[in-house]
Amino acid sequence: MSFKDIVGQEGAIKILQSAIKNNRLSHAYLFVGPNGVGKGLTAKTLAKTLNCQKGDIDSCDKCRNCIRIDLDKYPDVKVIEPTGTSIKIEEMRKIRREASFKPLEGKKKVYIIQEASAMTQPAANSLLKTLEEPKGEMLFILTTSNIHGLLPTVVSRCQLVRFKPLSVKVIGDFLTKKEGMAKDEAYMASNLSEGSLGKALRIAGPEEKELRDQVIDLIAKTSLEDIDEVFKTARQFTQDRDQIPFILSIISSWYRDLLVFKESQDSTSLVNIDKKEEIQREIEKYSKEEIEETISLVLRTIDYVKRNVNPQLAIENMLLKIARHEYTRTEKQRAKKQNTNKFTKICVQGEIND
Ligand SMILES: [Zn+2]
Repeated sequence: MSFKDIVGQEGAIKILQSAIKNNRLSHAYLFVGPNGVGKGLTAKTLAKTLNCQKGDIDSCDKCRNCIRIDLDKYPDVKVIEPTGTSIKIEEMRKIRREASFKPLEGKKKVYIIQEASAMTQPAANSLLKTLEEPKGEMLFILTTSNIHGLLPTVVSRCQLVRFKPLSVKVIGDFLTKKEGMAKDEAYMASNLSEGSLGKALRIAGPEEKELRDQVIDLIAKTSLEDIDEVFKTARQFTQDRDQIPFILSIISSWYRDLLVFKESQDSTSLVNIDKKEEIQREIEKYSKEEIEETISLVLRTIDYVKRNVNPQLAIENMLLKIARHEYTRTEKQRAKKQNTNKFTKICVQGEIND
């Protein structure tokens, strides 16, 4: 991939290309932004551009060097990733030893440290020493989604480049044009992806689609009578903690869709556009105020989970409240029906008495 193929990060790429063009490249960059928005890809493309045989402000993607860098088989470009959950000191010591040598083949030695906040404290200190003695032919590119997880001294040694979440349109268009996805499916995944192309691609995969179906199904059948069963299923969903924000975003998108459709009857802006018929059925049951109340409830739950409230408890509490809403709503409807029956009876009797 070349810079011209990377979507939605024009600002970041412009900074890098302008630095190459004017020969003002920093010796260390820190790419900061959410996961799945192109930080790793941009880092690799920068490494390719600097070692490309065509030598311009973008990689040709075809020369021997570009191809070998893509395959991680080029001696002067190294990608370091966390093993398990951390990047250990041994890796950094190795880099420190290598740093004293010139590039073996290329013009620039490039070290890409992915998710650099996973460095252990000794690893970060070792890197810091290397950064403090910059060598002309070396470039460090650190990437992270959590800048606060890095030593401030490491951050201060790097030039910061920010990566934005991608827009719904950028991701939707990418999925339809490059991945050949149907438009509805592409925009559903894009809407739920929080601006991450990587996440959108996962959401469009069969496992996540199945999970979305199950979560929507669970929400639709949540009631006080079945609450034990509902809790049981919810516990299965929340076993994988990394999955919880996605599950909550499905629930919030579902109620948001009910509100949008209730208000406008316009299906083009639905997230779960493939579930239009179910949405149409569901909105018959609720008033606008009831949906708004549930959306606030879901947003509060998302906030609790972000603030480290026990996610299982927060979700069960939310489901219980949804079930109670459901109970109150059906009770009200039942009472209304009974009253209507009584009223009809009185009217009919009235007619007879007349
Ligand atoms: Zn090339």
